Amino acid sequence: MKLTGSYALKVALVYAAVGALWILFSDATVEWLTGNTAVLSAFRDYKWWLFVTASSLLVFWLSWHALAEQGGLIRRLRQSAIVFERTHEGVIITDHRNRILDANPAFSRMVGRSEALLRGVDLATLHSSRHDSGFLDGIRNRIGEQGYWTGEIWNVAPDGSERPYQATVTYVGSGRDGQDQYAWIFTEITRLKDAQKRLEDLAYHDLLTGLPSRLQVGDRLRQLLAEADAEKRIAVLYIDLDHFRNVNDSFGHPVGDDLLVLVARRLQGRLPEGAGLAHLGGDEFLIYLEDVTDSAQAGECAVNMLKAIAEPFVLANRREVYVRASIGIAFYPDDAGSATELLQYSNAAMFEAKKLGRNNWQYFSRQLVRRADQRLQLDTRLRRALEREEFTLHYMPIMGGESAEELQGFEALLRWEQPDQKLMAPDEFISAAEETGLIVPLGRWVLEQACRQAASWQRLLDRPIPVAVNLSAQQFRTGRLFNHVERALEQSGLAPHLLHLEITESMLMEQIQTGQNLLGRLRQLGVHVSLDDFGTGYSSLSYLRRFDVDTLKIDQSFISDLVDNAADRDLVSAIISMAHCLRLKVVAEGVEQAGQLEVLRSLGCDNFQGFLFSPPFPPEHLGEWLRESAGSRSIGTHTDADGRRSSSQQSGSS
Ligand code: C2E
Ligand code: MG
Ligand code: MG
Repeated sequence: MKLTGSYALKVALVYAAVGALWILFSDATVEWLTGNTAVLSAFRDYKWWLFVTASSLLVFWLSWHALAEQGGLIRRLRQSAIVFERTHEGVIITDHRNRILDANPAFSRMVGRSEALLRGVDLATLHSSRHDSGFLDGIRNRIGEQGYWTGEIWNVAPDGSERPYQATVTYVGSGRDGQDQYAWIFTEITRLKDAQKRLEDLAYHDLLTGLPSRLQVGDRLRQLLAEADAEKRIAVLYIDLDHFRNVNDSFGHPVGDDLLVLVARRLQGRLPEGAGLAHLGGDEFLIYLEDVTDSAQAGECAVNMLKAIAEPFVLANRREVYVRASIGIAFYPDDAGSATELLQYSNAAMFEAKKLGRNNWQYFSRQLVRRADQRLQLDTRLRRALEREEFTLHYMPIMGGESAEELQGFEALLRWEQPDQKLMAPDEFISAAEETGLIVPLGRWVLEQACRQAASWQRLLDRPIPVAVNLSAQQFRTGRLFNHVERALEQSGLAPHLLHLEITESMLMEQIQTGQNLLGRLRQLGVHVSLDDFGTGYSSLSYLRRFDVDTLKIDQSFISDLVDNAADRDLVSAIISMAHCLRLKVVAEGVEQAGQLEVLRSLGCDNFQGFLFSPPFPPEHLGEWLRESAGSRSIGTHTDADGRRSSSQQSGSS
């Protein structure tokens, strides 16, 4: 029930009508109903009292209702007034000409004027100069369309500064003069804006070096490209420090961070005119040259940067470190048509520089894209091959003993058997599998398969058969290798000492600390570790001492010319002596001729592997190989000759 004037009039009219009806027809009705004159005369005596009683009850009931309603209204009004007074949001009511009719204390604090002084003030005079004269009209139009407006308004604060507010404006009906009125609610968002700005700064600047971040340099390149005319060429140099992980692993991350700051400063100091520098994250930097007339300019810049980086850096702990870098260069519009492509292609060129031995720079070429495409296709085929079980392992015997006629174990070598195609050797696909990460599930499969095979041969030949499995750096990095090894041994039942894991020096150099820990745990488990392709990498004696390995495998490149080349012979001799000093066994890889074997044996090499003994073969050929080799030489330990011969009679199938 609403207490309005029209409602009160309605009640009065109804009362007047009922009263008139009572006066006019009450006697006639009583007479008609009773037909008794005595009752009628008694009714006439009391009918006024009846009327007064009923009217009083009605008046009471209506007043009571109206008062209750009004009480509720007053309560609500009082609450609204409290909200208006006490809220931290600034609230004002304006008329249709944006003049303030009422303002709450929060708003008066926001603008530094009392509520009384604000009355009648034009709202536009409180706004910052960043809002133009049509701003308020725009708001009114929007309210006309959708009933409200919400957005950002900058007002002038009491100290004269300009502050941002989130404002909501709503139409609240018309005043006594019949003109529209509006309620404005202002929430200060200075802190929110500051936080937003800080976030933007964080995203736009690298915290460590203070240089522009990847995000900012991406925006800058996009802007440069948008402004570029047909003549303009832009060069991007993607810089990646070589083996930076070693610094982190050896000296710890804080020192690594120090070094990155020093590198950033040095690069900044040597930038040519019109160039910008950004830190993309980790050990990656980017330089862009805004106006390149000749590609040689970018090459020259790369050479200077490599020189700058090559000068020693002195760390906070006074240690001198030497850093190298690889740089890839791409041009707009020659190579790339967008900022994303510039980054992508210069990155591809940088990887090419890494592949070509690091510490150099390369221009991007279309060939790189083609190669990347081929890689992508190969990756898809490899994934499918793993699902379809097209991979298989071949095994290559490792021989040893006094006359190099005793079987010491096998090395498991991966092959890809594509339907109707020739067998593919790992060199053609391992690096692709490494790049895409597929090597991890593939390597796990190799581990499990090789352990199972070795265990099955052990049962078949009734003697332990060690198996060597090649690992990839990726497997080393995942942190799951230890579990995978444990599982493979558990599932196959192979004794840990019969599993020889082959790793390369570069794998260890990439992660010195993690590598050392992992090797330690594997050795504790009882697994043997061999350093593969020794001589092709760092071949550092100090590293050899540091890493806990059992066996050194001399790379085949040192073996091939062993007979004729005295230098190679000296080198192999030195490696063998050094390894023996460190109590390591030595395996020579790629032994193809009896002459090589002869020299190696004279130098004290322990074990041998190569086509002289056998090329790698599928497991089902074991029996055949055992039979063939049994004719010419013994294939087991001397104490075990009979057992071997009898086992070689069997099929040898897996
Ligand atoms: P690696 O571990 O050094 O393996 C020895 C390679 O030398 C094998 O090539 C073997 O066939 C070849 N070889 C051994 N003796 C001779 C010889 O007398 N003459 C000649 N010409 N070659 C010989 P393969 O099987 O093509 O493997 C190449 C490389 O691929 C391996 O080098 C290893 O680094 C990698 N690899 C093989 N299997 C796997 C695997 O399962 N996982 C990983 N991550 N890498 C693997
Ligand atoms: Mg190997
Ligand atoms: Mg090798």
